[in-house]
Amino acid sequence: MDKNLLYRRIPRVDSLMREERLAEQIRKFGYGSVLAVVHDVLGEVREALDGCTLAEMADRELADIPERIGRKLEEWFEPEMKRVINGTGIILHTGLGRAPLGKGVMERAALASESYSNLEYDLKKGMRGERSAHFERLICHITGAQAAVAVNNNAAAVLLILTVLAEGGEVIVSRGELVEIGGKFRVPDMMELSGAKLREVGTTNRTRISDYENAVCEETKMFLKVHTSNYRIVGFTEEVPVEELCRMKKRYKIPVVEDLGSGVLLDLEAYGLKHEPTVQEVIRQGADLVCFSGDKLMGGPQAGIIAGRKDYIEKIKRHPLMRVLRIDKMTTAALETVLLEYLEPKKAVENIPVLRMLTRKEEDIRKDAEKLAGLMRESAAETRENRAQANHLHITVEKCVSRAGGGALPMEDIPSFAIAVSPEEISAGELSRRLRHLKIPVIGRVYKKRLLLDVRTLEEKDFPYLAEVFCGSSLFGGEIG
Ligand SMILES: *Cc1c(COP(=O)(O)O)cnc(C)c1O
Repeated sequence: MDKNLLYRRIPRVDSLMREERLAEQIRKFGYGSVLAVVHDVLGEVREALDGCTLAEMADRELADIPERIGRKLEEWFEPEMKRVINGTGIILHTGLGRAPLGKGVMERAALASESYSNLEYDLKKGMRGERSAHFERLICHITGAQAAVAVNNNAAAVLLILTVLAEGGEVIVSRGELVEIGGKFRVPDMMELSGAKLREVGTTNRTRISDYENAVCEETKMFLKVHTSNYRIVGFTEEVPVEELCRMKKRYKIPVVEDLGSGVLLDLEAYGLKHEPTVQEVIRQGADLVCFSGDKLMGGPQAGIIAGRKDYIEKIKRHPLMRVLRIDKMTTAALETVLLEYLEPKKAVENIPVLRMLTRKEEDIRKDAEKLAGLMRESAAETRENRAQANHLHITVEKCVSRAGGGALPMEDIPSFAIAVSPEEISAGELSRRLRHLKIPVIGRVYKKRLLLDVRTLEEKDFPYLAEVFCGSSLFGGEIG
């Protein structure tokens, strides 16, 4: 084939830009954006023509270029970040954004952000205020701490505490607690970044109070305890509780700090889960500072909260790094709104999605699973009637195990129920891929050739959508890419 002849059949940029079909797109996305996509598509066409060996192949490449441009524009400029339905049963799924906030929280955040707010303005005094004022009183009231401050996330909180209290000195940490949390958070790295020197004591499985005491020297600036969030050391073990470390304070005047990881603000035992140390307990046991995530079990926005002794918190607030790591106004408003729920624990468990999902009763989940399975079977049957090509789906309800996720409660198998779908015409993996490409993507788990949707992390309001999805027009039609 004469390639030069083929290239001459590629439409010209200026004639494409005058195409009636692209006029609407130019109005919508702007001339420059459409022009960029036109160049992009023409580049693709040119490359494809290079590889063409048959005239029909070339004809196909050259057909309907304006339509291709239109499709590409819609694809490019559709918001990339979107809501997804979490059928994994992992409540704090890092890939899916950890803690969902629920509706009321973002309304408050929007209210404070859409217009001006008193973010750092003291309305009573008519002068400059502090952004932590909006939530500090609540954290103190709930946890019993003297003062509190919040930064971008818990990793930032740890870095800030180490920098402010221990830069140039030594920090004593048990070898059993040199944690790595997913996403590059490692205790030794944080230490190095802060300019503090890590002094490891004890062994992986056993650390005693004498190990800490023997390591104390002139340079010691802090005892740090780190919650082993995503693992447990079991068997022949010994660790020193915060309480016991605090008893040494009388002698050494060295601050005791605990990185709790997931900040639990209410007693999970009351809801049938294993006991997790709460922030309240750690403060009561005498820790000088405790830090934890806002978007793990607390169920709030991404933040790192530091609570504890007033003089240390004041020092932290005055440090230049505080300015680097501070939270924005949306987070400030969201944090305050979520903390207000904790004034009444019953309300917190009802209104904070993470706690609601975590404490849902197995029997209630089973009932919901039956309901959803029923809806899905109905719509699957409808499809079979309406379409020549049937999509047979076996839908059953079965027991499964949910997880807290986000490095919280790693050993806790939370019993739950899942919808198990096994399609006949396609594999479970292919079904899972198609579900990910839906307008509202559905994320499930493939297990033993079936797709599982754990009902614990589903919301009832999504049931009609899920049933409709399995009705097939969007899942089994030809429009999935
Ligand atoms: C999760 C976790 C962190 C990091 O918290 P982010 O809010 O994700 O930055 C730090 N320490 C511990 C012990 C954790 O569990």
